[in-house]
Amino acid sequence: SNKFGHIQLAPPDPILGTAVAYNKDPHPNKVNLGVGAYRTNEGKPLIFQAVREAERALIEDPAVNHEYLGIDGHEGFVRLARELLLGADSPAIAEHRVASSQGISGTGSLRIGAEFLSVYLHPPCVLISEPTWGNHITIFEKVNVPVKKYPYWKLETRGIDLDGMLAALNEAPAGSVVLLHSCAHNPTGVDPTHEQWERIFEVILARDLLAFFDSAYQGFATGDLEADAWAIRSFISRGGQCLVSQSFAKNAGLYGERIGALHIVCTDSDTTERVLSQLKIVVRAMYSNPPLHGALIMAKILGDPALRENWQNELRGVAHRIIDMRRALYEGLIKLGIAGDWTHITSQIGMFSYTGLTPAQCEVMINKWHCYMLKNGRISMTGINTHNVEYVAAAIKDSLE
Ligand code: PMP
Repeated sequence: SNKFGHIQLAPPDPILGTAVAYNKDPHPNKVNLGVGAYRTNEGKPLIFQAVREAERALIEDPAVNHEYLGIDGHEGFVRLARELLLGADSPAIAEHRVASSQGISGTGSLRIGAEFLSVYLHPPCVLISEPTWGNHITIFEKVNVPVKKYPYWKLETRGIDLDGMLAALNEAPAGSVVLLHSCAHNPTGVDPTHEQWERIFEVILARDLLAFFDSAYQGFATGDLEADAWAIRSFISRGGQCLVSQSFAKNAGLYGERIGALHIVCTDSDTTERVLSQLKIVVRAMYSNPPLHGALIMAKILGDPALRENWQNELRGVAHRIIDMRRALYEGLIKLGIAGDWTHITSQIGMFSYTGLTPAQCEVMINKWHCYMLKNGRISMTGINTHNVEYVAAAIKDSLE
């Protein structure tokens, strides 16, 4: 019998599918606004200088080999990554209240966190922003944690729906997990202000919900690693317990190396030890231990003051190229006399902008103008550069007509 005959064809991943369509299109003016990876002003992938230097040093280092890492990863990397995220002076770290494990980039770290919660906390549901990065939903579905949505995006203001979000948190079942984008919300590019974060934290703490921060863009939003970690640090400083998934895909350009970590902030060191011991059981059965190369690179960069400085400077440049392109796109739209308020292009932050274009308008962008983007109106700002920004502005204006 055909053992697999009942299996239905799955729909293609909308994000990865956009890349395939872009690559196939021979049009000379095509623009990739779907790409979830940084591109230079020449449209090329970027290898950070500090990464190149670290790799060179690793090849020459006689102490480096290709042995297995421990279940929870490279000790130096995990410690330095945790300090980068929570702050070197974090009381939670000093009090040994953070259970940390290396993870397979942001996605793998989310996944071990989700599995840990499912097995040990049995939450009634996880609350996820509407909209969000699509994989959030699938990750929690795969570990059988029911997914609920909280309102996040308000089309009329192209900003945050704080009242809707707070109401949903207030009504969430006791013991719910709340997934939060720590900065550079994907896909909207809209982050809460500090005051808005404080109101969100008040409800989470008052209702004793469990926060799970997804930190995929530290340093990418503002160019400042400290500023982009503000929400997480502020929540922890209020005594909040939480999980944090951390990725070095974007901020170090290490997409394919799959380097990241999961941190679980607990109330005391005894709990933390028990939590880490069980997290290791989760990891052991999933992939035994994480990959080595990215951990060696990031441990080297974070542990070497000169390389670290070099990385931070280049990262600032990356974030600012995106910020400059937001301004250029906005000015391009204004120059064309576009109707309506487009200030959200410059006020949104991070890699993406949620344009507010309807699915039909997105079709015009893609089919007529060869500007590949998601049908939900999300464009990646990294696909925009000084050579194509006017073309993209013209496409957006035309798509409205
Ligand atoms: N979270 C968010 C919000 C993201 O946008 C991404 C990348 N698109 C990730 C997590 C995971 O990325 P990675 O697994 O490559 O680190």
